[in-house]
Amino acid sequence: MRTRSSALAFLVSTLLSAGLTARQAPLKVFISVDMEGLAGVVANSDVSPTGPDYEHFRAIMAAETNAAVEGALAAGATEVLVRDSHGSKTNLLPAHVHPAARLLRGQSVGPKNMMEGIDKSFGAVVFVGYHAKAGTPNAILEHTSTGNVVDFSINGVSLPEAGYNAMVAGVYDVPVVFVAGDRAVVDQVRGLLGPIEGVAVKEEIGDASNGMSPTEAQEKIRKTVETAVRNRSKFKPYKIPGPYTMVLKVKQERPLFPGAQRAREGEFTFASPDLLEVLKAFNAMK
Ligand SMILES: [Zn+2]
Repeated sequence: MRTRSSALAFLVSTLLSAGLTARQAPLKVFISVDMEGLAGVVANSDVSPTGPDYEHFRAIMAAETNAAVEGALAAGATEVLVRDSHGSKTNLLPAHVHPAARLLRGQSVGPKNMMEGIDKSFGAVVFVGYHAKAGTPNAILEHTSTGNVVDFSINGVSLPEAGYNAMVAGVYDVPVVFVAGDRAVVDQVRGLLGPIEGVAVKEEIGDASNGMSPTEAQEKIRKTVETAVRNRSKFKPYKIPGPYTMVLKVKQERPLFPGAQRAREGEFTFASPDLLEVLKAFNAMK
């Protein structure tokens, strides 16, 4: 028989452990950071290690990354993984990244590439510094992957990097909740994924960039990532039903990936029920 005081003690301990569980509920946020969509970036030299202003924009990359990390933490993230997603993937210097985040830097051999490190344990994906796909009008430094790609589609859907990266997250049932970059990429990603949160830090005017100050961009990224991660249950993982057929159009042809077909000059197809296999073919021939 339970006495009154032991019943009370039981109630208190149940409430305490429930409160503890709520506070400690793990929430992992994955942040993929590119450079072309950072505040102020307009020229290739801004994002190339040999460019005169690369160090300046590298610092802005770290600051926008940290703004997103702070937003995620404010929304209750218990772990944050930052994936350096530009070029050699060694742009973010470890000491410049928020101490609460882990940093995944350097090239990886697998098909996940800009999404290396993503798995089912994550609750939300955030894109920072992203750019629109090759051929997008009114976009700043638009391209797809290497710059050799004219168009990349899966099952008839033409995809920017944000699109196929969202599909990789979708393999693990993780929704993309936020994108920062120019106006063109924010609109393009919303067209594919639906009304996710976003910050357009700049817009193109005749190949030039009209944009907000880096400080203003960071403030908006911090606040909007917080909102996006808090509301993550509103956003659905991005999934296209398989099997998958890609059509890859390139300027310069690369050697044929095993199982791929050359449809015509500069155009290749590859089909598989496994999305990551399709991305392997894409990475080999892009
Ligand atoms: Zn890039």
